[in-house]
Amino acid sequence: MRIEVMDVPFDNVTMEEALDAGLRLMERETPAYVVTPNAEIVYEAMHSESLRQIICQADLVLPDGAGVVLGAKLLGTPLKQKVAGIEFGENLMKRLEHTDKTFYFLGGKPGVAEAAAAKLKERYPALKICGTADGYFQDEGPVIAAINDKHPDVLLVCLGAPKQEEFMFRHRTDLQVGIMAGLGGSLDGFAGNVKRAPRWMIRCNLEWLYRLLKEPKRLGRMMRLPKFLGRVILRRLKG
Ligand code: UDP
Repeated sequence: MRIEVMDVPFDNVTMEEALDAGLRLMERETPAYVVTPNAEIVYEAMHSESLRQIICQADLVLPDGAGVVLGAKLLGTPLKQKVAGIEFGENLMKRLEHTDKTFYFLGGKPGVAEAAAAKLKERYPALKICGTADGYFQDEGPVIAAINDKHPDVLLVCLGAPKQEEFMFRHRTDLQVGIMAGLGGSLDGFAGNVKRAPRWMIRCNLEWLYRLLKEPKRLGRMMRLPKFLGRVILRRLKG
């Protein structure tokens, strides 16, 4: 079942249910795409009908972030839990490590996807990573051809939002992949270039504060979070 948060539909799933759905989608004939909007992206979708449509048409929409979960609760239609994109990606690797399923990493600055692949191979030695490419390309043609040459079961598209969502939507019919997921800065996380917040901060829903302290230049973008919550409260008050 989908729950709308400011007209953006989310699948109301636990992490385990999201993984089960992802594995089912992988077996389908046509490529499936997964999006992981946080509150900033929902706020952007409130101002961009094309982005909202791309999210609506995704096969799986996962609530990445405490802001979305809080918004759903304030609107009186709570979601089961936050399903962080980076955790979804890593859990998919854990589930598929000892199978013949292959992964392809697209995104990040040159060298980041390779570094992420190397770190993940240390953690999951049996994982099959069939290719990597950076996310700073001019021409999409060769990128699509290189991916299709490998036929990956899982394609991680880490180009930042909304570029990754637009890329997946534009190529959802010409990419020969099982499932693709837009996971923002996850490759930087896997490579160890960007550290996640300490566990206690994640538990207290303060991951946003950690990221802001580490990268103050995100302040402009992050101002969308209070704006999003303001709009949620306004809608709630209007009933
Ligand atoms: N990126 C990319 N190509 C671009 C723009 C961005 O590959 O044209 C990458 C960037 O290097 C970073 C990621 O996309 O690894 C975006 O990270 P960010 O933390 O901003 O994304 P979020 O998770 O907040 O959406």
